[in-house]
Amino acid sequence: MKVSRRGMLTGAAAVGAAAVGAAGVVGLEGRSEAVTTPAAQPKREPVELTWFGTHAWQLKCGKSVVLTDPWLTRFKTGTFTPEGADPKTKLVIKPEVIDKHLTTADAILVHHAHYDHMADVPYVAKKTQATVLCTETHANLLRAMRTQDDLLSPVRGGEYLPFDGFSIEVFPSLHSCSGKRHTYAYPGYRYDVPPRPRVIEDLVEGGTLAFVITIGGLRILSLSTANFDPNALRDLQVDVVFAAPGGEPGITDRLMQTIKPVRKVIATHWDDFDKPLDDPGIPWTDLAPLRQSVERTGAEFVVVDHLQKVTL
Ligand SMILES: [Zn+2]
Repeated sequence: MKVSRRGMLTGAAAVGAAAVGAAGVVGLEGRSEAVTTPAAQPKREPVELTWFGTHAWQLKCGKSVVLTDPWLTRFKTGTFTPEGADPKTKLVIKPEVIDKHLTTADAILVHHAHYDHMADVPYVAKKTQATVLCTETHANLLRAMRTQDDLLSPVRGGEYLPFDGFSIEVFPSLHSCSGKRHTYAYPGYRYDVPPRPRVIEDLVEGGTLAFVITIGGLRILSLSTANFDPNALRDLQVDVVFAAPGGEPGITDRLMQTIKPVRKVIATHWDDFDKPLDDPGIPWTDLAPLRQSVERTGAEFVVVDHLQKVTL
């Protein structure tokens, strides 16, 4: 039941106020006392985050488990050496590493298809039978890697998907780029199921997605690279952001100006993934610019180490 400054609302007025509040229709603010009544805050429950390096996060609340880009295998690619990654590096999956850390999942959010994001998804999807949200290109690559078709849920951005215990909103996004030509490795799309990917360059980016996970009363924006689509995220309201270093200069400043102020920004994809997951993470780049962009806005900057858990 809602209480306005005029007193108790009853019946249809109370239902209407609740509905407006729940939908967050701010345009109606100020028209009457009823609609200015603040929306009931969603009930907060503890959300446990665990970081497995790169953009591999487990979000857990009660029995609900959401995974982002679960890549735990890690193999040597040379990505962070002056020579760069060898595109012919073989894709391998180490079930013993994955089994040590992951047990169940309800949803797997694929942000883009590069090896350091999607190479383990066929194994993790089969093991957990989770719904895999991904683009059509990611789905075609996963089909080529023998992922069960009925687990795959191709999305484009704009979807609102309620699950039992959490919801997912999907946004179009962009891969970060760098260098003189503003490019990134292994771009491309696959409109049909290709031959089975064998080496890292076979896993083309295939479009990049961003997700908002609403879980335990928290809204968490998950970005897998430093880049984002400003048109998709303008004035987005979230509590927490997973933000990556790198990308074009000033990109995190632009992100923070695009979305509404947030309380907490958690660094993601900052570790050199040629190094073991069992050791503390070694930054592949200086985290200071990311930290400064975040702290300038008054938000808290949080760095979680390999296999560390943080409860929000
Ligand atoms: Zn990538």
